[in-house]
Amino acid sequence: MSRTSVLTPPEGALPARTRFAAGVGAAVSGLSRALGRGGGSVVGGRAILAVDGRALSRLAAGRSIALVSGTNGKTTTTALLRAALETRAPVVSNALGANLPPGLASALAGGPPRAPAVLEVDEAWLGRVLEATAPRAVALLNLSRDQLDRYNEVRRLAGSWRAALDGRPGVTVVANADDPLVAWGAALCPQVVWIGAGQPWTDDAAGCPSCGGRIRFGGAGRAWGCASCGLQRPALDVTLDGAEVRGPGGWRVSLRLALPGRANRANAAVAIAVASVLGVEPATAAAAMSAVSEVAGRYATVAAAGRRARLLLAKNPAGWLEALDVLRPPPAPVVVAINARVADGRDPSWLWDVPFERLRGRVVVATGERSRDLAVRLRYAGVDHRRLPDPVDAIAAVDGDVVDVVANYTSFQALRARLAR
Ligand SMILES: [Zn+2]
Repeated sequence: MSRTSVLTPPEGALPARTRFAAGVGAAVSGLSRALGRGGGSVVGGRAILAVDGRALSRLAAGRSIALVSGTNGKTTTTALLRAALETRAPVVSNALGANLPPGLASALAGGPPRAPAVLEVDEAWLGRVLEATAPRAVALLNLSRDQLDRYNEVRRLAGSWRAALDGRPGVTVVANADDPLVAWGAALCPQVVWIGAGQPWTDDAAGCPSCGGRIRFGGAGRAWGCASCGLQRPALDVTLDGAEVRGPGGWRVSLRLALPGRANRANAAVAIAVASVLGVEPATAAAAMSAVSEVAGRYATVAAAGRRARLLLAKNPAGWLEALDVLRPPPAPVVVAINARVADGRDPSWLWDVPFERLRGRVVVATGERSRDLAVRLRYAGVDHRRLPDPVDAIAAVDGDVVDVVANYTSFQALRARLAR
């Protein structure tokens, strides 16, 4: 028996150690839930990996796997792709966004053996997860500043992608050609489907990832290029134009998403391209995606303080640029909730890169644990606002039936949990 066949047992027969690890993980997850400590997928996954350090590759073996990575849109793209692939068979996914190896191991262990999997993966872990899971397809969305105190260098992340994908056989990458960092990061992979879905936020890619020169971004055609080394946007295979997605061989589909905004049309275009790589017809994929109306509570409208609050997540400047596109038009009020915990990044200085000037003319309420930082930023942006540290008080303070609430990561999770009670 070869060494490879020991690691990849036939017919879904996991090694005994991995089965035991999965059992321990399920028990730990169940205990965590019983104690009211959350969903338990992360602690359960840590237990799995503690018992069997190779559990991720063993649980992944024999599955058709698609990975989704990038700073913005991972969770939504994963949900849309899952909907498309579930037109054929049940799909395993880390739907709640636990995107480090413990969350991935937990998701795989919790689903049927050998079922296809769609996994969102943290940008910094993509290389290691590629090694462990041998995916058939990888979607690369964008790279932007996020959690400034932790993952501060987008070019370094792009470089890690580039090294991980260099010459890698057996995988097709669907890559955002409009992001120079992604284009450079994916360029050495033998199989790339280049997608042009638009990218309004370009401030993190002003420096050429290849030579450090200046990237110049074009106008309507959205082409970009480096005058120094010649790096430029690759020729597109799939394009998003308004609500229409066009692909190789002349296929075209119209998006009819329940999810709002330009960014979600781009996420859907990527998901359709990945689904197509995995053998699902674009029209079938697009139809399935139209039924997705919220993603882990995002875009959901919930009762709050006698009103209905529509919850939007924006955790960094790139995400905020897209969120501004989704807000109800002025003068509709907006509640903005900002925390700066570990999962948000402790450093809230990114608030200065968000074009909050565009909120002028609305009633704005600053809330969350770092509402003072936000209030200073809004003052410099010339935005009239109030500051109420409690998010529910903030929602109660504005007029109107429906209130848009834009929150960053932990403030979003805390508010969602509180309103669900
Ligand atoms: Zn260059």
